[in-house]
Amino acid sequence: MTIKMPRRKFVAGLAGLGVALPWLRRPAGASTAPGPLNRPLVVTSKTNAFVREAVTTAAWEELMRGGSALDAAIKGTNVSELDPRDASVGYGGDPNEEGFLQLDASVMNGPDGKAGAVAALENIKTPSIVARLVMERTDHLMLVGKGALKFAKMHGLKEEDLLTDTAREHWRDWKENLSDRDYYMPPVDKDKPEGGGTINVLVLDATGDIAGCTSTVGHRFKIVGRVGDSPIIGAGLYVDNAVGAAGATGQGEESIKTCASFLVVEKMREGMTPRDACRYVCQRVVDRHNGRPMFSLKVVALNKRGEYGSAAVRGRADKATGKTIGLDFGVHDARGHRMEAGVALLPPLTEAELKTIPWR
Ligand code: ASP
Repeated sequence: MTIKMPRRKFVAGLAGLGVALPWLRRPAGASTAPGPLNRPLVVTSKTNAFVREAVTTAAWEELMRGGSALDAAIKGTNVSELDPRDASVGYGGDPNEEGFLQLDASVMNGPDGKAGAVAALENIKTPSIVARLVMERTDHLMLVGKGALKFAKMHGLKEEDLLTDTAREHWRDWKENLSDRDYYMPPVDKDKPEGGGTINVLVLDATGDIAGCTSTVGHRFKIVGRVGDSPIIGAGLYVDNAVGAAGATGQGEESIKTCASFLVVEKMREGMTPRDACRYVCQRVVDRHNGRPMFSLKVVALNKRGEYGSAAVRGRADKATGKTIGLDFGVHDARGHRMEAGVALLPPLTEAELKTIPWR
């Protein structure tokens, strides 16, 4: 007896079993002609060498255990949130201007179109889990500040100090170097820590369901109460189960003004590849700033077929080599984890230009 199975499900099933099929291989955004399905698939914005592989692997393993796309997106995000070495997400992140952390996060689930978010959440290591609880256990979409903390504790999340010694030192160095007209003095001329680094995790499961999660400390040394794009659905994250998902990192204010993630998904809906859609949105941002934006914004995306891509307004110059960094993004599919190259529209800001930006 022959079992009739639609080709789509057959491919998805094989990929779900971790079978690497050579004909599934296709470079990101390489062509507008539809290629074969590449499911399941995990995509992350994370570039830090110490967490990026662990992030996509945790999400992938969750899918292999039978978890949903949303379970996987949050599992991957938790790796970054809980790792104290990651200065831009969750526990151990760099604090705001007063030396404490206020975290932002969002989740969006393709199958039911639901979303949840928290902003300016203090003392909880995993804001993505609280964002999911807001989505699943309330009729609201976003909780902020004290209310978000109360709600997290109501669901059993532990209140903890998120400031590590390293992050405290980053903050103290920043304060000491702020001005030569106060009473703080830096002991030595130190390198500033790298900026940015929000995590987006986008997941497409073997059956074509899509979910995403975004989590961040926001801008280091930000004004108390500042909220960026990460918890704003449509800006830092957007998922449409019929089309794909996108997430943004970098200058949150610009991502909000451009509805960056929503626009990427809309451009994919019109037929653009993920990479072209990301590039389109970055170009829109560059144009809004007369070709000279003094910041970066990076978007990553995947579509329902399992194609993926990323683009940025610009990368960063590596101090040691002068090479442009920060454009790559993490992928995990049936071939395993790897970093893929994104595209940049502009060269990195120079040292002199960087000095004019307050938060750097
Ligand atoms: N997009 C984040 C924010 O504006 C920060 C970042 O990704 O660097 O809060």
